[in-house]
Amino acid sequence: MINLRSKIFCLSCLLVIFTIQTPLSLHASQILYYEPTFKPFYNDKGVLQIAIRQYDKESIHYFLALDPTTFKIREIMASQAIFSDSVENETWQNTPFFKALFQYIGPSCPLQNGGLIKSEYPISYGMFLTIDLCPSQKPLDKNLFKMLMGLSYGDVTEPIPVAISITGRWVEEHETDFKWLQSQIRSNRLQVTWINHSYSHPYCAQCPLDQNFLLMPDVDFKKEVLSTEIMLLEHGLMPSPFFRFPGLVSNQSMMETLAELCLIPVGTNAWLSKGEIPENGSIILVHGNGNDEKGVQILKNLLDEQKDKHFLLPLIDAVTPAYF
Ligand SMILES: [Zn+2]
Repeated sequence: MINLRSKIFCLSCLLVIFTIQTPLSLHASQILYYEPTFKPFYNDKGVLQIAIRQYDKESIHYFLALDPTTFKIREIMASQAIFSDSVENETWQNTPFFKALFQYIGPSCPLQNGGLIKSEYPISYGMFLTIDLCPSQKPLDKNLFKMLMGLSYGDVTEPIPVAISITGRWVEEHETDFKWLQSQIRSNRLQVTWINHSYSHPYCAQCPLDQNFLLMPDVDFKKEVLSTEIMLLEHGLMPSPFFRFPGLVSNQSMMETLAELCLIPVGTNAWLSKGEIPENGSIILVHGNGNDEKGVQILKNLLDEQKDKHFLLPLIDAVTPAYF
């Protein structure tokens, strides 16, 4: 854990140049020179923030600033960030975000389903829904989203919280469906936490797990992560500090890279189509890419049984105690 902490801190003292340009170049606000950074600072309200990415957009230099207490990320102009007041390592290391990050990255990682798999805090009622959009030839399962938006306890003033694990390849191949999703967000019907699910989501049907997904040879893991963030930003969407490994498959080296990038891995203890039974505090996994009829039906049955409000909870509630 000490090594992890110092590795993260080293991002602030070593100039790690990792510049990447987006494969999507048709959008008006193109993101250029996108790279990770690590600069703790206090904003003008005296609130601790961490600049975790920097880039140029329309000739202006920006940071993505992570609030390590609320786990929210927002875009700020570089001119708004003042790094003159030094922040002690202990200060940022003891924030809820970094405590969670160090906990879930851990010293040993299982091949599959490492990271956050259920709420860190006791939940008396409610679950966290994650919907994966892995690459697929099929259209978006709009019925799944319409079912969520039609929940009797969700009205136009109260959008349904859902975490969507997004891949760049799915977006490339489903621009119209992606626009539809964004229009539901703009209409305040969905409150989406965007989980990074890698850009290309590599997969090989014949390969063993330990040589599959992002563990396949020649995968550029950082590029997979950062390209997806760029894609979101170029669509006007804000990444969250969460990452879901394709197939939930990872190794310790990738986990440590996630820590350097300030991203918390999200697994599941309720992959519905695999027969895992959800309980209060579970992180549910279904697919919204048209390939998960069984999981979506189980979810529908589960939601039909709920009468109370707020059964579905924002993912951030799984890692922040503030709401309990
Ligand atoms: Zn996937």
